[in-house]
Amino acid sequence: MHSTTPAPSGSPTGALPHVLVIGGGIAGLAAAARLRGIVDGTERARVTLLEASPRFGGKLLSGEVGGVGVDLGAESMLARRPEAITLARAVGLGDALQPPTTAKASIWTRGELRPMPTGHLMGVPGDLDALAATGVLSPEGLARAAEDETLPRTEIGEDIGVGEYVAARLGREVVDRLVEPLLGGVYAGHADAISLSAAVPQLLAIARRERSAIEGVHAALAAVAKNPDPAPVFTGIDGGIGRLPGAVADACRAAGAELRTDTPVAALRRTADGWTVVTEGGGVLTADAVVLAVPAPVAARLLAELAPGAAAELGEVEYAGMALVTLAYRRADLGPLPGSGFLVPPVDGRAIKASTFSSNKWGWLDKAAPDRFVLRTSLGRQGEEAVLDLDDAELVALSRADLREAAGITATPYAHAVTRWRAGLPQYPVGHPQRVARIEAAVAALPGLALCGAAYHGVGIPACVADGWRAAAAVTKDLVSGAE
Ligand SMILES: Cc1cc2nc3c(=O)[nH]c(=O)nc-3n(C[C@H](O)[C@H](O)[C@H](O)COP(=O)(O)OP(=O)(O)OC[C@H]3O[C@@H](n4cnc5c(N)ncnc54)[C@H](O)[C@@H]3O)c2cc1C
Repeated sequence: MHSTTPAPSGSPTGALPHVLVIGGGIAGLAAAARLRGIVDGTERARVTLLEASPRFGGKLLSGEVGGVGVDLGAESMLARRPEAITLARAVGLGDALQPPTTAKASIWTRGELRPMPTGHLMGVPGDLDALAATGVLSPEGLARAAEDETLPRTEIGEDIGVGEYVAARLGREVVDRLVEPLLGGVYAGHADAISLSAAVPQLLAIARRERSAIEGVHAALAAVAKNPDPAPVFTGIDGGIGRLPGAVADACRAAGAELRTDTPVAALRRTADGWTVVTEGGGVLTADAVVLAVPAPVAARLLAELAPGAAAELGEVEYAGMALVTLAYRRADLGPLPGSGFLVPPVDGRAIKASTFSSNKWGWLDKAAPDRFVLRTSLGRQGEEAVLDLDDAELVALSRADLREAAGITATPYAHAVTRWRAGLPQYPVGHPQRVARIEAAVAALPGLALCGAAYHGVGIPACVADGWRAAAAVTKDLVSGAE
């Protein structure tokens, strides 16, 4: 084992190695939970977690708007991947997991709210008749989409932009009115730039296997329908996803980890037998291993001297920023407002990119405040972050103007909150998986160091949890092999 370094004051002592986790977003918290054995009962390390801001959670943030508790950041988790649900259960939130209601989403395009087509894979339809019935595409757009079934195979090489592939198969309108808003909901980026292999690997597999994308999607969806998974696709948490980081932090503390807020890390150094971390306040901590769970630009700074090549590549990871405007209404002021909300294709030139009718989408929210109605809008995407510089009143006014036109909402909200997420979502352009592989290969040459978080293997919460666990396992393995 690396030498037993003195534990930081106040941290638990013992024979286990000491791991410093830098960053208290969901990836860092997941890593800490794994190292303390919260998920599987195996204590692997003593843990000190250092978070720069005054709170844990990063992009997971609970808040209150007009007396109603809501999420001001991420609000939903993919339930088809097990990691986030497993973590939530392990920290006592199992009973609070709650899928969204069955309210359906729409697309605000071509002048009206139209039903979101069913039977598609990230906007690529498996059934053109079902798509035609929604009115999302123009007759010309539909005719072009149908050409997918006769066009020769599209050669895609190692990887291709999602938009480029779909445009080649089904035409620009499918990209603009379906793929762009759906991908935008996950990455706030541009479909042409986003990597098919990183963002929609199922579609990449179809593209490699089948000539027609529509037929490939149809077959893939038919296979899913034949073997129906009764579990819902997404889940929320009663009270908000923002409860998850606090619960993980509490569980980590209860398991003996030391967690500090307001402790930005300024420097990371390798020593003869481990690691030294210097905080902005001048504090010095030593450890046997380090998990770096910070956004890519921060990792780039901290690794500039240790791994200059990896740092340069981390510095090139681009981020998209967005603003969320949460509006609280008195229900009596509103007319009926069906559905879970709507997406807005950027090509339609509106200010907002989406609106979620949170009180319709989440049963727990409706139950907590039955006489209120909460909804939120999002504005901004990669390269269009100037909107974040508008003041709150302007963002609220833009949102209300679009809500009036899209859904006839003329009532005045009695409360609002604007949350700006600058550098909110890392972008996964073509070449991203290869860039991540190069970064990880460089970091693997530094035993006892691992990176994790949204910049690497997926931006969604379950992917970040999985990445935190992977990093925890990597440093544990380094420590074990270092001891041999
Ligand atoms: C507005 C928005 C909505 C989203 N909605 C969803 C959703 O509904 N479902 C979903 O699955 N995903 C959603 N996502 C994506 C998902 O929430 C994030 O990708 C994920 O939470 C990122 O986790 P992370 O731990 O990698 O990073 P972060 O959450 O960014 O955490 C990194 C932490 O590191 C800290 N830090 C930074 N610098 C330092 C330093 N020098 N020293 C110490 N600490 C430092 C930061 O303060 C932060 O707490 C959303 C993202 C955004 C922005």
